[in-house]
Amino acid sequence: MSGSSDEWGWFDEALGVGMQLGLKIDSILYRETTDLQDLVIYQTSDWGRVMALDGIMQVCERDEFIYHEMLTHMPMLAHGSAKEVCIIGGGDGGMLREALRHPVDRVTMVEIDGTVVELCKTYLPGISDGAFDDPRADLLIADGAKFMAETERRFDVIIVDSTDPAGPGEVLFSPAFYENCRSRLNPGGVMTTQSGVVMIQGEELTTTVRRLGEHFADAHAYIAAVPTYAGGFMGFGWASDNPALREHDRDTIAARYSATNLATRYYNPDLHCGAFALPSYIAKRVEAGK
Ligand code: SAM
Repeated sequence: MSGSSDEWGWFDEALGVGMQLGLKIDSILYRETTDLQDLVIYQTSDWGRVMALDGIMQVCERDEFIYHEMLTHMPMLAHGSAKEVCIIGGGDGGMLREALRHPVDRVTMVEIDGTVVELCKTYLPGISDGAFDDPRADLLIADGAKFMAETERRFDVIIVDSTDPAGPGEVLFSPAFYENCRSRLNPGGVMTTQSGVVMIQGEELTTTVRRLGEHFADAHAYIAAVPTYAGGFMGFGWASDNPALREHDRDTIAARYSATNLATRYYNPDLHCGAFALPSYIAKRVEAGK
């Protein structure tokens, strides 16, 4: 997604292909150009607070639960006993919040821009909801690609909650990054990635599946509908070395879901199994990457 906000009154994000997202704004709460990106936090009329980076919607209080639940609980419940989790990006803390709802030993979160973390804690505290204070949370301010190339740590689940493939996020879509993620994933591990809105950025999903497939035995995708990532279904890259990890039956997922006491607002066991059922135009994008 790419865009800019020209004047407050409306947050306008040009999505491409002749489409834009508009959210009515009550006020601009904060604006700063960090060393890496332009960060704005808006108070909207009906969607709560919103954070944009370089003019691109990142997180919105009203519907953030969808994206954070679907990018976290899909790999976590497919794995079934993840203890070491890594989040690349995720500066607002929503992914960290959801990962810590599982009985993990540690969640390593590698976010390149510390200002994003600090400002989201201040202006959007409900997104992280105290997750950064959890003793199992290990926040590192670093480039996720550099971290993954150098770390000795090994992970059961890796979640790439990045911006789009431009600016600092671009490197998180590279073959080298995926190769390093693969080599840091424990046997039975699962990796998921933010891969754009398929109707708008379809090539992104195809490229992600292709590049994941160069390093993992099973590269695929699943979907969710996130209103403020406008333009239809959002695609999520999926990678593991065991296709069976995305083929659990509903009862298996339901048993794990209830054992973890997750009270989710979008994710549920039926949806877990259904999220891999792709509309034909999205299936074609995925198959083009195989
Ligand atoms: N939900 C959003 C989306 O779908 O575009 C992503 C939200 S999250 C705020 C994206 C985070 O990725 C930002 O905090 C950004 O600073 C971080 N980021 C971008 N490039 C990065 C890199 N190379 N290493 C680590 N974090 C990075």
